[in-house]
Amino acid sequence: MTARFLIEGGRVLDASQSLDAVTDVLIANGRVAEIGPALRARVPSEGLRVIDARGLWVLPGLVDIHVHLREPGREDDETLATGTLAAAMGGVTTVLSMPNTLPPVDTGEKVRWIHERAKATAHVRVQVAGAVSVAQAGEALAPLTDMNDQGAVAFTDDGRPVATAQLMRQCLETAQALGTRIIEHCEDLSLTNGGCMNEGPAAVSRGLKGIPNTSESVLASRDIEILRRTKGKIHLAHISTAETILLLKRAKEDGLDVTGEVCPHHFTLADEDIPDQDANWKMNPPLRSRDDVEALREAIADGIVDVIATDHAPHSPDKKQKPFAQAPFGIIGLETLVPLSLALVRAGLLTPLRWAHLVTHGPAVTLGLKTAGSLRVGMPADVTVVDPALERRPATFASKSHNSPFMGRNLQGHAVMTMVGGGIVMEQGVLVGRPVL
Ligand SMILES: [Zn+2]
Repeated sequence: MTARFLIEGGRVLDASQSLDAVTDVLIANGRVAEIGPALRARVPSEGLRVIDARGLWVLPGLVDIHVHLREPGREDDETLATGTLAAAMGGVTTVLSMPNTLPPVDTGEKVRWIHERAKATAHVRVQVAGAVSVAQAGEALAPLTDMNDQGAVAFTDDGRPVATAQLMRQCLETAQALGTRIIEHCEDLSLTNGGCMNEGPAAVSRGLKGIPNTSESVLASRDIEILRRTKGKIHLAHISTAETILLLKRAKEDGLDVTGEVCPHHFTLADEDIPDQDANWKMNPPLRSRDDVEALREAIADGIVDVIATDHAPHSPDKKQKPFAQAPFGIIGLETLVPLSLALVRAGLLTPLRWAHLVTHGPAVTLGLKTAGSLRVGMPADVTVVDPALERRPATFASKSHNSPFMGRNLQGHAVMTMVGGGIVMEQGVLVGRPVL
């Protein structure tokens, strides 16, 4: 029999029902059974574990819709097991797995393989994004319907942009019929042109080749113009520039179904912060100027941004020890999502409820996930308990890779319990068990 839990006296933050109240949450049979004050007086105590959440925040399990798990093919960097362990440690109960593995996830059979592998090894729920093009080669459209039939919930060539305007038109038309969203990695490769950090004074002083803001905004602009004709749904991943934020804002005002995502590193760090030659600060899109950082923070505060996601991109230490120009792009993020995004609450840019929205209900709605990002009665009990005051200085990570500019930095606000389907997966930073997935 599944255990019953009473999470007592926490500040419950559930954006799906605009709930921000100090109250109790009863979990039974793997689901949210009841939310209300003083439940202990009414609930039979037999077989009930009471979790004291006074002073803590209780929210739906976090949903991170931009995660590279590297399996199959790059298991030296990460696996479904280690990546989802990092998710559990970070309070994330659902991840969207990106398809740029080796080989890329571009058929229904490969989607099914990820689901089966996750069922056998993962610590949290894994949703799958399929590739837009066959082998992510940017030429032929991949079999989106076949992948959707096997449970793919979105499509993307992430790591690279959808290669051509014609391919974007085709995938939008097919995805629209399936009711799914195209996730776009906005990058005009001809403008990136071999650059490795943001174009500007910080790149010049380091003698490194820059990536202009237009590399992102030109592609975003192309896609929005196509969307105007085809309709359908586009999600702009990892927005890093003020220009793309403006395009997103206008597209929304025009009534287009465009959603936008920002990653914690882009609203926390700027290009001028990068220590000389430390490739743990290298990612794509790159850390931008201080003005861009401010524009992203403002857009999050103004409600223009729909989702905070990590773009968790593990690379083994040997790859990241290379000089900045030669090292691969990407940093890990699952275990620093809570503290970095909570900093926006402390800065007065977000209310706790709006913060919860951006890491739970917002991403779930963006992908059309009906059973994630909410604590409504009857929902699967994916629950994260956060201690907003807890300070930690990460010296190591559960992820197989450690490529993070936040290693060793004092970070405030951490998940202290992660529950998936009514079973505790992580408690006080310790792995407790694997959920039945
Ligand atoms: Zn990307």
